[in-house]
Amino acid sequence: MDQFAEITGFIRSIFQQEKDFIPLHAPVFLGNEKQYIEECIDSTFVSSVGKFVNQFELEIARYTGVNNAVACVNGTNALHIALMLSGVDGDDEVITTPLTFIATVNAISYCGAKPIFVDIERETLGLSPTSLSRFLKENAVLRPNGCFNRVTGKRIKACVPVHIFGHPCRIDEIVKICSEYKIEVIEDAAESLGSRYKGIHTGTFARVGIVSFNGNKILTSGGGGMLLFNDEELAKKAKHLTQQAKVPHPWEYIHDEIGYNYRMPNLNAALGLAQLEKLDYFIELKRALAEKYKSYFTSLDIEFVAEPDDSYSNYWLCCVLLNTKEERNSFIDFTNNQGIMTRPAWRLMNELPMFRDCQVFEIVQAKRIADTLVNLPSSVIPELSKDN
Ligand SMILES: *Cc1c(COP(=O)(O)O)cnc(C)c1O
Repeated sequence: MDQFAEITGFIRSIFQQEKDFIPLHAPVFLGNEKQYIEECIDSTFVSSVGKFVNQFELEIARYTGVNNAVACVNGTNALHIALMLSGVDGDDEVITTPLTFIATVNAISYCGAKPIFVDIERETLGLSPTSLSRFLKENAVLRPNGCFNRVTGKRIKACVPVHIFGHPCRIDEIVKICSEYKIEVIEDAAESLGSRYKGIHTGTFARVGIVSFNGNKILTSGGGGMLLFNDEELAKKAKHLTQQAKVPHPWEYIHDEIGYNYRMPNLNAALGLAQLEKLDYFIELKRALAEKYKSYFTSLDIEFVAEPDDSYSNYWLCCVLLNTKEERNSFIDFTNNQGIMTRPAWRLMNELPMFRDCQVFEIVQAKRIADTLVNLPSSVIPELSKDN
């Protein structure tokens, strides 16, 4: 308890907040947000047509280094579109990580497909290429029409790795293994806007990737998400699907397939665009905060989750690993009672009632990390700026 009190004092000192509540993550609006939103309202184009949404797509494509980006209402439906475009259907299975936010697995479920949960690694907190490789060696059979699961008889159509809390997973190895088994990769980079692996932006290693701009992410458009492509044809299909599959025509309503009302409103894009102008500044401050946490927790002999090798993390949410679940629980109780918001990792997906009967493979690291991880307050602190 003495140690918990000391940690609480430390967190209060870096956030320069003696008594007030310290949230896990709060957005900051320091730039052109109000100006762009006002401009958007004045233009009357507040819905899904307008210049901000087009410009936001161009700027995100440029920032992440892809040819095309397609804006969506949120990251979950960006994932839904990505899975559909990868050919995932109701008889399929999709490999993913058990330690992720529910959105990843909900999107798989919207296609009618079933997730398979493969273990993660401590170093990246993401899907383990070693475990994935072992799973496929033991369970997969390659046929002319795809990769099949020996145990369930179903086709394994896709794999969705996730860059957890902003830390890149070993995405190049995962893409390579999946291509050997003819499995499509959809990169869930919802939490890792600005994070790079081997110098390349996360979300751009596979045929399709997604990012999210939800209120608690590093950059927010209120709600929003974006699909990332290098294949222009695929991007066109995505845009078509997000706009009710309406065929362009000066006045007639023609829809050539079942579409979705998934396009991001201009109003949200105006907010997102202003936030994007500050993204590098946000990342600089988050990395400065991570450095402070890292040296402090290392001095206490508590394991801080630092960015993995070969990667540049946006440190969206900082975290530590405690020794046991009991210790984790009492730490979270203590800090929250003191007005400092801390949270455990998500409950493992395979333990939720909807996914309890899904196939799991190894899940050893995932269990340990789910039991002992604590997310720490991680908001941008302007005072940590080099200019201050
Ligand atoms: C936030 C998030 C999403 C989806 O984002 P929304 O914009 O909230 O729909 C998907 N996957 C992960 C891992 C996320 O953290």
